[in-house]
Amino acid sequence: MFDYHLHTPYCRHASGSMDEYVLKAMERAVEEICFTPHLPLPDFPRGGRDLRMDREDLDRYVADVHRLRARFPDFPILCGIEADYYDGYEGYLEKILSRYPFDLVLLSVHFVHSWPGDNWLFGFDFPDKSISQIYSEYFAEIKKALKTGLFDCVAHLDVIKQPGSPVLQSNSADIIEILDLCQAINMSVEINTSGLRKRVAEIYPARDILDLVVARDLPLVTSSDAHDPQSVAHAFPDLLALLKSLPDCRIARYRQRSPTFISARNLG
Ligand SMILES: [Zn+2]
Ligand SMILES: [Zn+2]
Repeated sequence: MFDYHLHTPYCRHASGSMDEYVLKAMERAVEEICFTPHLPLPDFPRGGRDLRMDREDLDRYVADVHRLRARFPDFPILCGIEADYYDGYEGYLEKILSRYPFDLVLLSVHFVHSWPGDNWLFGFDFPDKSISQIYSEYFAEIKKALKTGLFDCVAHLDVIKQPGSPVLQSNSADIIEILDLCQAINMSVEINTSGLRKRVAEIYPARDILDLVVARDLPLVTSSDAHDPQSVAHAFPDLLALLKSLPDCRIARYRQRSPTFISARNLG
């Protein structure tokens, strides 16, 4: 199994050294890892939250991946990035992504441009909007992001989901449109165990959405979204069991933003 979504101390809200993440992955028999710190967004109106690297940290981060590859030459360590989509940053994103030798670019939306305050996805309070409308405003950002063609894989697709309000029930048209877009531009979809550690207590994306992903034969990227070494490969035995229970599906392996595929049946 691969763990393709790992944070670093550069993110400023993750703990442990990058070396510790590698050692934990090896201890847990992960076959490959990809670090994916949050991309810097200069002058971002983030409401004082320290959520990401500074622009100057990027070179240090890439150098750290090279240092780790030298320290652990037999263990594949990929250099990825978790890139937030936010209106107005498309040109910047394109420039940064072309400048660095990334193996994988994850798309995530943590801020909805039209929302008040600091746009934070997890702080919404809209008494006059239905949950379906709130979900839909988040999915509109994902659709815009996909249309830029700047990303390889959509991370934690239903990260907005609230306990007791299943996304597919209220927003199936959004999900179908997004999966069709992913298919049209050869994007993969992340299956991420961090939802199990959150209040919603289920994987991203939910099982019913995952069934639609697999029915379209979209490649999957497996991940823990660890923000500390202890969470590397979190719940991977359960994830493996889930993958084996699905109709055969493709797991993506990335190198320099190009995927090759492994059948989930061959995962050990
Ligand atoms: Zn994070
Ligand atoms: Zn993440």
